[in-house]
Amino acid sequence: MGKAIFVDLTRCTGCRGCQVACKQWKNLPGEETRNTGSHQNPPDLSFTTIRLVRFQEVREKNKLEWLFFPEQCRHCYGAPCKGQADATLEGAMMQDDATGAVYTTDKITQVPGDEVRSACPYNIPRAPKDNKGVSKCDFCFDRISNGMKPSCVLACPTGTMNYGDEDDMLKLANERLEIVKKQYPDAVLGDPDSVRVIYLFQSDPKKYYENAVAEAVSPVTRKELFAGIFGGKKKA
Ligand code: SF4
Ligand code: SF4
Repeated sequence: MGKAIFVDLTRCTGCRGCQVACKQWKNLPGEETRNTGSHQNPPDLSFTTIRLVRFQEVREKNKLEWLFFPEQCRHCYGAPCKGQADATLEGAMMQDDATGAVYTTDKITQVPGDEVRSACPYNIPRAPKDNKGVSKCDFCFDRISNGMKPSCVLACPTGTMNYGDEDDMLKLANERLEIVKKQYPDAVLGDPDSVRVIYLFQSDPKKYYENAVAEAVSPVTRKELFAGIFGGKKKA
């Protein structure tokens, strides 16, 4: 079954508690930045910033809206990034059968980072300057494999970030979607059949970020996972 995160963007206040908690747990350094006139800081994901609260100010039906998008790896079924890394070196990336977490191993430094990044439908992995490997969110694999919540989920004070069994998170996502649609008729879930980090957008996901949803999602879906394709067994 595995685990999932449900991110209810209608509840995000852009406090960046999750962004800081990720840095703290992963022991990642801060980055020198400058004021660009946006709440979004740093301006993009990087080798040392694997979680970022993106920010857009938009006009919706003559009303100003702030759209916060705490972004991280989606832990796709049949992760395309892992497929690309495997093509260069088997074992450079792994996907855990029990949780679904997609993470890098020590071998990742032998894989060109730009190739892994280009395979990701959400533009998530980031390479270091020498392009040896990538870094990205690993679902706090060290925490969740020991029964703990991911650090970003634990830090969230508003109920935006939720973590649990995949079925429970999908149920919660659909329940919240039904409620939210009364106020925001364009509300939608982001690629819920293909990923383990499910976002609830209050309006068109492209208003949040151009890669918020995928043009072409992972070829493996939740349905196929249940049919036994993923996790070692092959389709007959
Ligand atoms: Fe890999 Fe990108 Fe999917 Fe994360 S979102 S598992 S980096 S393909
Ligand atoms: Fe960072 Fe862990 Fe959250 Fe991933 S799951 S964004 S590694 S805190």
